Amino acid sequence: MNKIAQIFQTLDYGPAPEGPDQANAWLDSHGRKFGHFIDGKWTKPGKTFASDNPANGDKLADITEGTAEDVNAAVKAARAAFKPWSALSGYERGKYLYAIARAIQKHSRLFAVLETMDNGKPIRESRDVDIPLVARHFYHHTGWAQHLSREFPDAVPYGVCGQIIPWNFPLLMLAWKIAPALAAGNTVILKPAEFTSLTALLFAEICERIGLPKGVVNIVTGQGETGQAIVSHEGIDKIAFTGSTEVGKAIRAATAGTGKGLSLELGGKSPYIVFEDADIDSAIEGLVDAIWFNQGQVCCAGSRLLVQESIETRFIAKLKTRMASLRVGDPLDKSIDIGALVAPVQVERIRDLMKRGVAEGAVVYEADGPVPAKGCFLKPALVTNVSPANTLVAEEIFGPVLVAMSFRTPEEAVALANNTKYGLAATIWSENINLALDIAPKIKAGVVWINGTNNFDAAVGFGGYKESGFGREGGREGMSAYLKPAWEKELKAAPAAKPAPAKAENPLDSGHLDQTAKMYIGGKQSRPDSAYNRAVLDPKGQTIGEVGEGNRKDIRNAVEAARAALSWSTTAAHTRAQVLYFLAENLDYRRDEFAARIKAQTGEDGANEVALSVERLFAFAGWADKYDGAVHNPPLRAVAAAMVEPLGVMGIVAPPSRPLLGSIALIAPALAMGNTVVLVPSAQSPLSITDLYQVIETSDVPNGVINIVTGDSVTLARTLAEHDGVDAMWFAGSAEASAIVEKASITNLKQTWTSRGLYYDLADRRFEGDYFLSKATQVKNVWIPYGA
Ligand code: NDP
Repeated sequence: MNKIAQIFQTLDYGPAPEGPDQANAWLDSHGRKFGHFIDGKWTKPGKTFASDNPANGDKLADITEGTAEDVNAAVKAARAAFKPWSALSGYERGKYLYAIARAIQKHSRLFAVLETMDNGKPIRESRDVDIPLVARHFYHHTGWAQHLSREFPDAVPYGVCGQIIPWNFPLLMLAWKIAPALAAGNTVILKPAEFTSLTALLFAEICERIGLPKGVVNIVTGQGETGQAIVSHEGIDKIAFTGSTEVGKAIRAATAGTGKGLSLELGGKSPYIVFEDADIDSAIEGLVDAIWFNQGQVCCAGSRLLVQESIETRFIAKLKTRMASLRVGDPLDKSIDIGALVAPVQVERIRDLMKRGVAEGAVVYEADGPVPAKGCFLKPALVTNVSPANTLVAEEIFGPVLVAMSFRTPEEAVALANNTKYGLAATIWSENINLALDIAPKIKAGVVWINGTNNFDAAVGFGGYKESGFGREGGREGMSAYLKPAWEKELKAAPAAKPAPAKAENPLDSGHLDQTAKMYIGGKQSRPDSAYNRAVLDPKGQTIGEVGEGNRKDIRNAVEAARAALSWSTTAAHTRAQVLYFLAENLDYRRDEFAARIKAQTGEDGANEVALSVERLFAFAGWADKYDGAVHNPPLRAVAAAMVEPLGVMGIVAPPSRPLLGSIALIAPALAMGNTVVLVPSAQSPLSITDLYQVIETSDVPNGVINIVTGDSVTLARTLAEHDGVDAMWFAGSAEASAIVEKASITNLKQTWTSRGLYYDLADRRFEGDYFLSKATQVKNVWIPYGA
């Protein structure tokens, strides 16, 4: 039988290798030894480490280990370049981005082959996914550069950005970071991952060739220590990081109190939910892309299959059949499905995790089929017989390992899906659009794909909830992550807070006061757990009242009440607006009384502050049904609905000054967007807020939506920041205390806003809009395909 007839009979694949010659020629042209790209020039190689091809172990090149001096030099170059670069018109900057996009398209084959050789991913993916998306990103941001001043009129770039990326999508992560940073007018120092620096170095050469002004892009190679040197460098204004949650937390701690901007795109354990009415064959194909794309080394990999019990047996059987046809092998072969993992250490890590999972009762299925004897290859694996606590269900494996569990009802699917510390992405398969669109908002994740998976586009934001990080990459949200308000640099130091009143020497001295204001928790006034009170003094030092001294237990109770009230987030925006209007109206009725209380505490005329507070409540009532999302049109038959969602429970610590407005200006945007709140009012002048209880009670505010704990701001702020039930934290106070709050927030990586000792004049109308609204919300992109 001749060969073609033979092939028709076996339907076997022949080899279809992509040639490595171009990539090898490029490496040879650099003597296979690289320094850094700093200030538009190549440095001499220093102490180097090897970059290997994980498919065969061959050394590809020697890469320089970046030192603190190298980082210094790069920061210096980026700083010098910042002024002229940010002064260019958006159109001029856009033209450079356009030139980069064109050059990447022109050399796409070289980029794709080099990426595959360095990373081990199948050429099919680097050629058809990574590199086209890289070009798309630079094209998309060409437009943002030009339209920046129109779309973000009061914003300025951060300055010098330090960007640290992982090895799973080396060039794509570079594009996601560099394109928006440059479009916004920043300059950058980027550190690629130690395993995969080569396409970043090729990119540097593209920057050189298209004539990008020197110092605008600096590439410093190295390992974790080089990354640390970037994170801790004082000359860097913003850090953007993608990688593990563990390192993300270390970076959050290292940047606490520095005022550096920060965005973190971290790990995931994304659910892949298949309902019984799904198109099963499509769901199986989707699953192959969800978990075996890039060998499962994908932060948003659909690594937790949740399948409805009624179809579980059939689905798993079909999946096993499909797994048997996945081809593992040479990543440069165009008909390979699964290539090499990035490095031997990752293979070992995955094997260790699998051993742990099996010891805990997991059953592992691997299809028969050849795997190359040499190189970092693993077979695709399916893990069953697991409980939610199994290591393989809880941990991000970052390999070709799928864990499967079943559910009975949609409610159970949501509960299982959300039973993770992560919240990056989720996939829902159902032919019932009503069901799918009902489930999507209930999943705590930054991206939800319906009847599809792993869709990405430059116009659609990507990023996580919970411990998957904060900040978005792509689209409008991604642009705003590289911009800050122009007025921020004019902020002055806040006046020092009045010292805390000296404790009464004789506790009986305060006995003449007939009433101590209580806490307000779950819609009820409650005594402080400690049974201690603190005196409230007038400007002359006379005691004018007492409030409870809140402690850890009060905060715990308040957080519990706030969590129990989270249905506020799904209350119609119109209804939330009505409640805020009603609060404003009821406060206005009692304006004289509130004004007098402000005067008693601060000595200042309170009428204006009350009027401003009423106006602010009106303003955010007005925003409740207007600050909403967008519908994006990515280049495929789908829309992506960018939904603006609340963060959850917010801890808000008001500034010492402006006893009423200081709290109202912060809680109003949080409430308008559907968050519930634990508020710590001004420690010095809390009576304006303890007086508010009756106003709250008469304004239809559901119990638990606003909870108030009085006491020492810093102590209570720290407790709130440490609490895992708090999703976000706003703190107005000193620089030292702001650092404490930011550091304490790493427990569950809550989002923070702190005033860092600066004076935010909350009476200013600039705080009446999206400044706080954007900080009280996160965007979830729901991808919805269309077409029969
Ligand atoms: P890391 O988070 O350690 O690495 C990401 C980047 O940060 C790399 O450039 C790394 O440098 C750098 N880095 C490491 N330590 C520090 C530090 N202390 N300060 C600043 N930068 C630092 O991921 P790994 O590569 O070590 O992978 C480990 C695990 O993390 C994976 O198995 C996977 O589970 C997860 N991961 C998740 C990713 C995601 O997107 N969700 C991406 C990558 C990994 P270098 O590589 O040179 O050490």
